[in-house]
Parts: sequence; C-alpha cells; structure tokens
Amino acid sequence: MNVYDTERMVDVMAPEGYEETDTPEGADLIVLNTCHIREKAAEKVYSDIGRIRKMKDAKKKAGEEMVLAVGGCVAQAEGAEIMKRAPIVDIVFGPQTYHNLPKMVNQSLDLKNHGEKSRILDTDLAVDEKFEQLSKKGVKKKATAFLTIQEGCDKFCTFCVVPYTRGAEYSRGVDDVIKDAIKLAEAGVVEVTLLGQNVNAFHGVSASGEEWGLPQLIRALAKIDGFERIRYTTSHPHDMTDELLDVHADVKECMPYLHLPVQAGSDKILKAMNRTHDSASYLKIIADLRKKRPDIALSGDFIVGFPGETDDDFEKTMELVRKVKYSQAYSFKYSPRPGTPAAAMENQVDEAISSARLTRLQALLKEQQTEFNNSMIGKTLCVLIEAPGKTNKTVFGRSPYMQAVQVTLGDASYKDLQGKIVDVLIKEGGPFNIQGVLA
Ligand code: SAH
Ligand code: SF4
Repeated sequence: MNVYDTERMVDVMAPEGYEETDTPEGADLIVLNTCHIREKAAEKVYSDIGRIRKMKDAKKKAGEEMVLAVGGCVAQAEGAEIMKRAPIVDIVFGPQTYHNLPKMVNQSLDLKNHGEKSRILDTDLAVDEKFEQLSKKGVKKKATAFLTIQEGCDKFCTFCVVPYTRGAEYSRGVDDVIKDAIKLAEAGVVEVTLLGQNVNAFHGVSASGEEWGLPQLIRALAKIDGFERIRYTTSHPHDMTDELLDVHADVKECMPYLHLPVQAGSDKILKAMNRTHDSASYLKIIADLRKKRPDIALSGDFIVGFPGETDDDFEKTMELVRKVKYSQAYSFKYSPRPGTPAAAMENQVDEAISSARLTRLQALLKEQQTEFNNSMIGKTLCVLIEAPGKTNKTVFGRSPYMQAVQVTLGDASYKDLQGKIVDVLIKEGGPFNIQGVLA
C-alpha cells in the first residue's frame, strides 16, 4: 500500500512541476513514506533523516531550498516527536492527508521565502476526501497497477498498529473504484491488484445505494476490457466467504494465488492475538478453496515469539505450515508496538528464543517454496512480462501463482514482450524464482 500511496504522491505533485528522480541528492523535495508495522521499519526514518541532513545542507550552501517531508504511518503515530527530534523536517503528514501535499509544500516554501520557520503537521484521518481528490488524477501507462479499494481496520489484533495509524475500516464507493479501474485499463494495465489492509472486508456502496462485497466487485472488474489478471491483498480469514472462494473457481481473471495470513498455529496464541479464527477454521478455508481451485498457491504471514508463546505453541505453527504447504510466505519476530495491548503483556518472549524459532520456521517455508517452484519444471506457464531481467538476455515476469520468472529472450526483445502475457516453458526452479524460455 505504501507503493500505491507513493505513486499517488507523484501524481499529485506532477501538476506543480515535480517529477521523480533516481537519486535524492539535489532534489527540491524529498518525501519519506514510512511504515510503522514493526520497530525496525520505524527506526529507518531517523537514520534516513540523518543522511538527508547533509544533502539539505549542501543544497542550502548552493543557495537553494530542499523541502523534507515525512509521511505515512510513522508520521501518523509519532508526528509531534519527529518534529521535536528532527528540526530539519519541514512537513509531517499522515497516510490520509497526502492529497494535500502540493498545498503543504507550497506553504512551506512560502514560509521559507519569508525567512520564517516552516513546520507543517497534518495527520487528519479524513480518508474519503483523499480518494475524492486522487480520483481526479491521470494514470501512467504500464502493465500492472495497484488499486486501493479499502483502508484501515476495525479488527484490533492485539499486536498491530494499523487500526491506530490508518484509522477505522473504510471502503471506497463502487462507482469510484470502477471509474479508476477503467482509467487503468485504458492506460494499458493488464493486471490489477486490489489493495486493502482487510481487502476482503470490502463493502462499498454503489450509486443505487446497494452494498457490494469483494466477490461482486471482482466479477464486475473482470468484465472490463483489457484486464486479464486480478489479484487482491491482504485478506483476513474472518472475511473469507464462500462467495469469495467461488470467485476463484469461476472467474478466470482471478489469479490462482491467495495471501491469507494466519499469524500462528496455536489456538491459545490466536486468541491472545484477538484473531477471531482458530487453526481449524483456517485449515477449513484452505481445504474448501483447494476443492474449488485445486492449483491455488497459498501465501501467509507469521509472527513468532508473541507474548506467552511456548515451545509447544510454536510447534503448532510448524505443524500448520506442514499441513498447508505454502508457495511463499512472510515471517517476522514479534515486535512490541507502542500503544498496542500486546506490548503491555507481561509474558514477553526472550529475543534469542524468538530468533531461533524464526530461523526454524523460515527454513521450513523456504523448503516449501523451493518445492513449489521446482514442481513447475517442465510445465508451460503464462507469464506477464513486467521489467527487464537480471541480464540483457532475460526479462522479468510473474506467473499466475505470483512466482518471479526470469525468461530467456532468444530472438525477442524486451520491447516486444513488455506488458504481454507469454507462454514460458519452465526449465529451472529454486527458492526465490523460476527460469524458463519462450514456448
Ligand atoms: N491485515 C492483515 C495484515 C496487515 S499487517 C492481516 O490481518 O493479516 C502485515 C503483517 O505484519 C501481519 O500479517 C503480521 O504478520 C505483521 N505484523 C503486524 N504487526 C506486527 C508486530 N507487532 N510484530 C511483528 N509482525 C507484525
Ligand atoms: Fe492489523 Fe490485520 Fe489485525 Fe487489522 S486484521 S489489526 S490490519 S493484523
């Protein structure tokens, strides 16, 4: 979602004459779009600000201004502290106010020109106003695009900052989403990924006042000319309805890949996390989905070392992973986040124990990912070509199962294939990507 938000910031600044640069040195405006989900991500902001200070000083010596803005969820959570800790930051804005970036930048420059100290802080959570402004912007020509349809969260898992930083759960209006989708298709987008912190809790209202869920929305988007692939992320097991499982069975544009975070395998831990599902209900969703779409590839998120997690609890996570067999996954050590209930729990797990558990879990997940990738050897897959490859003899694309594919070009050129879905015969596998030749 931060990638999506960053692209929209570029869109809103374009009419002001700003464009993206490859390097930050000498830029007129630097925006740090931050993530607060784990401590490591949040800490990066302050080290980045340190690096930027030198660039800002150098520009000042040359008689020019550099505006430094910090946006995103760290800004939302710690805006006042950033202002205090880092006086060189000119603007602090939250994830729901970035449509106001041009106004904030111009105001900051205006204040600077008058020799005044320019500090602007805007962390309002008025999400509908943001989308209304963003919908007015044009889109860049490209093959794949993100489209935010839902934001925020009301689930309050005890470890998570999202409900505090992105705000309450919000679904965009159906007609706005469809309008944006048509704009993307007209700009040549072949694959659209619908985004939301709880994307499958989507319940947008149509112009006629009817409430649509994600299944109905996907079915409508699949009819738009040009869209050949639809994905959605991130889903919560709680909102994985039968209607949504059916979409995987009978909408050919809906890709056979689902990211469905479980977090842990122990019911005691899931309860303490306030996850609303247990391991059995999660496994039932997977079994039902596999009945409807046997080749579906599954991905998940895991947290190890949540407060109170014993060796036995952790083994239950390993057991669940063995049962599901993931094609890819994201796994993290629990990171206490200020203001969340879990951070105040007394039974925090020792760092060394969490690290050892994470190593074991990641080894198992890597084994499964390798096995999944290797199972493609000898098969022909439809690959959407997205970017140049690692060498000038290859191009990069994605399989329907979300695998990264390196394709040997042969006589073709990247230009010929860019944005096209081509048949690729898979020759090699491995843990991180698969490799093949045009079939
Ligand atoms: N809405 C999604 C997840 C959004 S956050 C869901 O409910 O599954 C993305 C991932 O970050 C989470 O799935 C979780 O695995 C991880 N995460 C969130 N808070 C965390 C924390 N405090 N420590 C470690 N990992 C965390
Ligand atoms: Fe965070 Fe997801 Fe839980 Fe919401 S459902 S609180 S976003 S982990």
